[in-house]
Amino acid sequence: MLCLRTDALLYGAYMADTQLMPIPGQIDPVPVARDITPRADGRVDLLGLPRKAITNLFASAGLDSKQAKLRAKQVYHWIYHRGVQDFDAMTDIAKTMRPWLTERFVVARPDIVEAQHSSDGTRKWLLRTSDNHDFEMVFIPDEDRGTLCVSSQVGCTLNCRFCHTGTMKLVRNLTPGEIVGQVMLARDALGEWPKGRMDGLDDDENAGHYSADGRLLTNIVMMGMGEPLYNFDNVRDALQLVMDGDGLALSKRRITLSTSGVVPMMDRCGQEIGVNLAVSLHAVTKDVRDEIVPINRKYGIEELLQACADYPGASNARRITFEYVMLKDKNDSDDDARELIRLIKHYKLPAKVNLIPFNPWPGAPYECSTPERVRAFSNLVFEAGISAPVRTPRGRDIDAACGQLKTKAERLSRAELDRLAEEKQASLG
Ligand code: SAH
Ligand code: SF4
Repeated sequence: MLCLRTDALLYGAYMADTQLMPIPGQIDPVPVARDITPRADGRVDLLGLPRKAITNLFASAGLDSKQAKLRAKQVYHWIYHRGVQDFDAMTDIAKTMRPWLTERFVVARPDIVEAQHSSDGTRKWLLRTSDNHDFEMVFIPDEDRGTLCVSSQVGCTLNCRFCHTGTMKLVRNLTPGEIVGQVMLARDALGEWPKGRMDGLDDDENAGHYSADGRLLTNIVMMGMGEPLYNFDNVRDALQLVMDGDGLALSKRRITLSTSGVVPMMDRCGQEIGVNLAVSLHAVTKDVRDEIVPINRKYGIEELLQACADYPGASNARRITFEYVMLKDKNDSDDDARELIRLIKHYKLPAKVNLIPFNPWPGAPYECSTPERVRAFSNLVFEAGISAPVRTPRGRDIDAACGQLKTKAERLSRAELDRLAEEKQASLG
């Protein structure tokens, strides 16, 4: 039997636990953690691995192929469908088998550094990867739904000028485990794993089947930190675990991926993930969009809207959401609204528009449009037959609103830098 310490060598345990990942676009590659990195104690974390990878790990740890397949199927179900982390609680696995698993594997979660609760019910978690990178996730409860805002990267390489996350220096792609781990942590915190028994003796009420009825966490938006289409493979692999009926079993209709406009990846997003698409449009002229969403210099508005028109699965029943942040005297005129309508009609887009009042942060170069301006803009778009609700900012008191995600650690280091700069000034003066 191969022991796992040998496997650790096979998987490169003694190499750095991050490597460079090439990403499309004119930006530098970002580091990404290795998919399978044994921990210091030699055990391998199964979080984020698909059934096939778990099967392979079990086989290379010594199980014959039939056993490896059967055990992987059971363990997969416990991890993703039931949220179980302790092999001892996996009751349909032979008692003698459980210590074998515990010696070699773990089912982890991202570490929680801090959990905050807003006065409006919004919750925010500051999370940490095993190699000490901080990132955030936010849960937003509403009357008829509960939405988890999930991060795809630590920071973001794209530097949209109104976005706090874009000012972070540190960027690393999150792994599938760190992405699906956010959803699993939220289910842990909300106590929302299906209960019931594995031996087929469930009554209906206790059955392990998942339904959204009466649950708090019903929707997922990939709108936390990072550009999900610059971390395509990991986001896809994580969402596949979320959408799998034997995994977290959340319908793709309840998942929305938001992109700033990584045009070359949009078709694959529709084909390989199939979730709802949101596009951060924010401006309707080249000059303004070049300024506030710099990826526009690479993929312009026409190209972007054509990719939206071609997005697989978009229809009147599954419309594309255009996000539009309202910036005073920048993109909020009646002419802007009219141009937005013209573009949506010209490309025959099944669209709705989300108007987001700009959430200011210290040092931000813009102001939010006045409420009257936001209403006038919204009315014009509505009158053209396009839904254009104004999004209410949530969780402002805990910096959880759109575009405010930037880790406390990062803010601290900035504060420290400022203090150092002041001290330097003082010593010079
Ligand atoms: N990178 C992706 C997804 C994360 S950003 C994207 O850009 O689409 C999620 C949404 O928040 C985007 O529409 C983004 O433009 C918006 N946003 C960023 N900063 C904001 C701010 N300060 N105020 C309001 N919305 C903001
Ligand atoms: Fe990145 Fe989105 Fe922020 Fe732009 S708005 S910097 S793409 S997270």
